[in-house]
Amino acid sequence: MFDHPSFDAHEGVHAFHDAQSGLKCIIAVHSTALGPAAGGCRMWNYASSDAMLTDALRLSQGMSFKNAMAALPLGGGKSVIWGDPRKDKSEALFRAFGRAVDSLNGSYYTAEDVGIDTSDMAMVRRETRYVAGLDEGAAASGDPSPITARGVYLGIREVAKRLYGTGDLSERTVAVQGVGSVGAHVCAYLARDGARLVISDIDQVALKDVSASTGATIVQPDDIYDAEADIFSPCALGAVINEKTLDRLRVKGVAGAANNQLIVPEMGEFLRRKGILYAPDYVINGGGIINVAAEISGNYSRDWVDGKLARLIETLGEVLDEALSTGQPANAVADRIARQRIAGAKAAAPK
Ligand code: NAD
Repeated sequence: MFDHPSFDAHEGVHAFHDAQSGLKCIIAVHSTALGPAAGGCRMWNYASSDAMLTDALRLSQGMSFKNAMAALPLGGGKSVIWGDPRKDKSEALFRAFGRAVDSLNGSYYTAEDVGIDTSDMAMVRRETRYVAGLDEGAAASGDPSPITARGVYLGIREVAKRLYGTGDLSERTVAVQGVGSVGAHVCAYLARDGARLVISDIDQVALKDVSASTGATIVQPDDIYDAEADIFSPCALGAVINEKTLDRLRVKGVAGAANNQLIVPEMGEFLRRKGILYAPDYVINGGGIINVAAEISGNYSRDWVDGKLARLIETLGEVLDEALSTGQPANAVADRIARQRIAGAKAAAPK
């Protein structure tokens, strides 16, 4: 564990097994310096337990950085359940997972991530109160996608301001990859501002709906990387900025919702060398976790969410400005600020 390439001084990495339900899960708590660790639960049919551990270690570190950049009173954690979400779900499995979360006594809050929906979390809730992203209940915050999308739209404007001197998008073309929960809302915001849209998805119904409501031009999934556009907005998958796609991009900016857009951090420097301004994913897509944080506080307030989102977009602007003025890749600037915030909280904590 301590020699694992993705180990980053995690505070705790907990493995749980429940023979009766078949639960195999890891809960990784990267940091609680800023508050209880929070981050979703992912269910995935991993190829090996090492692949599962790698995911838990990386994703929990990413949540520490995301929560720190959104100035939330939360640390970073993540849980991963080993299984096929189409076949292996059961009430017993999620209740066993709930007991695992509960055994950490509130040092980790869970919510939905890939493969997990609100009905699964409702089962987890029967065993623990350390759950967010619920549909029902006093402080339930529901689907975070509209808030995430608003943050991404505001972030695209920040990128445009630095590239063109104005956040006015009426003369701009944005290529949006993925028009699901977040991407469709992003398209609606952009179309309202008069931006031209190029969209791709593998879901034909979603494509037709978004195209009909926004006038977007549809392209084949692989052609989105070659789109003649000002800004590329990845809102589907991770690792889309890689050695194969880099040379195809004709845009001046990358700003989208997808997590882990860079296949490796070094891609940030390659984007910079190509003159492409990159909005670090875990900063621009922090709207969803702000919404979840409001639920964890037990007193959901839309005003509080809007205020935090506005501040997050200011932080994004500061990251972009520092990257441009110092010639560093924006992802490196964001990583440094996040690490400083976490270290500052650690240093200030009572010994
Ligand atoms: P979603 O599943 O609703 O939408 C994803 C869309 O991408 C789907 O329509 C899917 O068909 C499409 N897609 C899949 N493969 C594709 C491909 N090869 N080319 C083009 N489109 C493809 O998910 P979402 O909630 O909209 O999230 C989108 C991304 O944003 C994910 O990476 C997610 O982790 C990230 N994110 C989401 C939130 C949130 O609040 N939902 C918050 C932070 C980050």
